[in-house]
Amino acid sequence: MNIHEFQAKELFAGYGIPIAKGIAVKAESEFDNALAQLPDGKIVVKAQIHAGGRGKGTFTDGFKGGVHVCPDKSTARETASKMLNNTLVTHQTGPEGKLVKTLYFNEPCAIEKEYYLAITLDRAGSRPVIIASTEGGMDIETVAAETPEKITRVFIDPAQGLQPHHKRSVAFGLGFSDKAQLKQLDKLLTGLYKFYWEKDASLVEINPLITAPDGAIIALDAKVGFDESALFRHPDVVNLRDLDEEDPKEVEASKHGLSYIALDGNIACLVNGAGLAMATMDIIKHFGGNPANFLDVGGGASEEAVTEAFKIILSDPNVEGILVNIFGGIMSCKVIAKGIIAAAKNVEIKVPLVVRLEGNEVKEGKALLDESGLALTSADSLSDAAKKVVELVKASN
Ligand code: GDP
Ligand code: MN
Repeated sequence: MNIHEFQAKELFAGYGIPIAKGIAVKAESEFDNALAQLPDGKIVVKAQIHAGGRGKGTFTDGFKGGVHVCPDKSTARETASKMLNNTLVTHQTGPEGKLVKTLYFNEPCAIEKEYYLAITLDRAGSRPVIIASTEGGMDIETVAAETPEKITRVFIDPAQGLQPHHKRSVAFGLGFSDKAQLKQLDKLLTGLYKFYWEKDASLVEINPLITAPDGAIIALDAKVGFDESALFRHPDVVNLRDLDEEDPKEVEASKHGLSYIALDGNIACLVNGAGLAMATMDIIKHFGGNPANFLDVGGGASEEAVTEAFKIILSDPNVEGILVNIFGGIMSCKVIAKGIIAAAKNVEIKVPLVVRLEGNEVKEGKALLDESGLALTSADSLSDAAKKVVELVKASN
């Protein structure tokens, strides 16, 4: 689960991480009051969306830039009016962009140098890693590809936590030697690691972390993601969730306990078990198709959950074919069949439907589908099913 920059910075402030003063607004009527709380002079206006690359983004009406350093408050007000409720396209939003519903007014920072600093989980090493670079303000992926020597990685033993030598390694990698700055960086790293650990974050990223001409170190941007499996421990974090930023299909699925992730292909999958769902997506690809989603209905899904799953799949306009692949272990094939039939009563299925049922109560499940009169193609094995759905979709185009 991701949050907005202004929310991340409010959390940062509680951990002693220096940020510029800022106020978030959701309507033009709030502009004046927000600006009155900031000192006169330059004002930074920042679009709040769950995507990076805002500075270099362009709005769909042609207005350039999701981050503006304005010379004064009246310019900030005018710029903000152009940005609010406008759709911003960045390299991370996809071509459809994201509607900007919140803006963040900031006191500006004078920048001497920009750095990159992040903490995330190193999955291969099963431990947190601090990633630091002198190339701030750039995409870290680009830096990793073009100048990997400019990235410092410091791995942390989760049992020991952050140690002074970790902080010295980061400081060395970033080239800090000034005593006062080393002290600031030490405090910032301590706070950032504590935040990452206590809040079960999956990523905390500051890009750029800056030094000001007076030597101050400040987090100018903030991107934070949380481990969804740990959200039950953090109701305060759950409160920061902005459903407008998430795929409505995924939000609906999570309400019914379904693991659903929208993808950009045209063959929908309804599968039980995450491993089988991955294998199903792979085999669709193998036969030249493209999965429209990952969907694991789980082992003990109810008929209602299966019905909802089917409805969610059908609500995706990109879907041109459906593959149901169930290996009934705990899950009964009967429940799946009933769920599909119930969903088909609500929403007309206009695309080819291929069903492969195997295992627990498979006969009963198949009999129910036969009796329902639903137009479907049965398949006997996973590869047979994938081949059939890819062919049917191709034939229908
Ligand atoms: P992003 O483009 O989504 O990563 O948004 P950022 O918050 O990183 O802002 C983009 C760029 O705008 C930064 O890399 C800075 O160069 C610039 N910027 C943002 N805030 C300020 C500020 O307070 N002062 C100055 N001078 N530049 C800023
Ligand atoms: Mn940034």
